[in-house]
Amino acid sequence: MTAYQFTEEFAREMDAQDVLASFRDEFHIPHIHGKESIYLTGNSLGLLPKTARSHVEQEFLDWQNFGVEGHTDAKNPWLYYHHFLSKQAASIVGALEKEVVVMNNLTANLHLMMVSFYRPTSERYKIIIEGGAFPSDQYAVDSQAKFHGYDPKSAIIELKPREGEHTLRTEDILATIASNKDSLALVMLGGVNYYTGQAYEMEKITQAAHAAGAFCGFDLAHGAGNYPVKLHDWDVDFAVWCSYKYLNSGPGGTSGVFVHEKHGNNPDIPRFAGWWGHNEKERFLMKRDFMPTEGAQGWQLSNAQIFPMAIHKASLDIFERAGFDRLRAKSITLTGYLEFVLNSLTASSNLDFEVITPNDPEQRGCQLSVLVKSQGKALYDYLKAQSIIVDWREPNVIRMAPVPLYNRYLDIYELGKTIQGFPG
Ligand SMILES: *Cc1c(COP(=O)(O)O)cnc(C)c1O
Repeated sequence: MTAYQFTEEFAREMDAQDVLASFRDEFHIPHIHGKESIYLTGNSLGLLPKTARSHVEQEFLDWQNFGVEGHTDAKNPWLYYHHFLSKQAASIVGALEKEVVVMNNLTANLHLMMVSFYRPTSERYKIIIEGGAFPSDQYAVDSQAKFHGYDPKSAIIELKPREGEHTLRTEDILATIASNKDSLALVMLGGVNYYTGQAYEMEKITQAAHAAGAFCGFDLAHGAGNYPVKLHDWDVDFAVWCSYKYLNSGPGGTSGVFVHEKHGNNPDIPRFAGWWGHNEKERFLMKRDFMPTEGAQGWQLSNAQIFPMAIHKASLDIFERAGFDRLRAKSITLTGYLEFVLNSLTASSNLDFEVITPNDPEQRGCQLSVLVKSQGKALYDYLKAQSIIVDWREPNVIRMAPVPLYNRYLDIYELGKTIQGFPG
């Protein structure tokens, strides 16, 4: 364990020893108010990889030069473009290649997954989600329940922290699953909660859901590229994620989907179908009856969105070179440093705040959520005026995410010094 110090010298020494330090140069760091920012919002929108432009330019060129023939003649033939992403995307979420496909956007994919894995009956119709889940997830599960004729008030069970606590205890999650075992259809949680930064014990939750006779899926919007998951080994039924947060693939970028192989090879699983999910060998025979291609790809609807996927490819190449294990190791130390600096500030600054993210690294990714008891918005505005970009969540939380690909220990030191100077 590193003996942290809140000094510039220490931060510079840590950066000097960082084997991943050069990856920062592969990203454009935004300039805000005329100077290079300290960017701590990779949890919200990851930064632009410098290689993204040439990846997109390749597709412009091929479109320009080949027109429709680009489907087969492009350097990366568009007909097969999703194949070029599956292997790297699978390694980010601990999946087999055929269990993963990149397509659409996150909320759309969440609905597609629930079409397959939320099939309520009069006995089994409940969905467990976390209370205060990301709004899109709440709307998605509520609307699915309604679509099937159930009242969300009785169909949706929200997990809440205990009185006086901010995060969920695994034992409480498991107990809620067990106590609803006769009526539970689905457990669907954010793998890493967007607000608190808590990473849930996904393997145990999956086991409990299965023991209760329910399916289990995760929204990894804040997990993918941030927190290590092993979706295949954990026997998770499905997962979805977006690519524009930790995966640096641009605003509104494409999304990823995981379907466990035990379901992916079952053509009888009900799904909403489209031609890109049809048996690839026969796609252009334009036959009448849908026969899904094996694996997650069988859930595709439309032909691949080449441009956002080209950006995603640029980013996944960087992840592959950096190696997720190394990124995670740096992430733990870097976030530990942020926690250390924040804790040293509670003693010395004009602010009253508390880190509500669990302090166990196993229960979090890189994000720390700081509950500021008063003047939170003023602190956020003050930091922004000093070109430090963190993220404000009503009513009183500032989220900060030191991303191991492009953040430095020095960023954390400077954040700490700046907070120390907050006039209050
Ligand atoms: C970011 C995020 C979303 C956003 O959904 P889109 O469909 O990509 O707009 C949904 N759910 C969670 C948990 C998120 O963190």
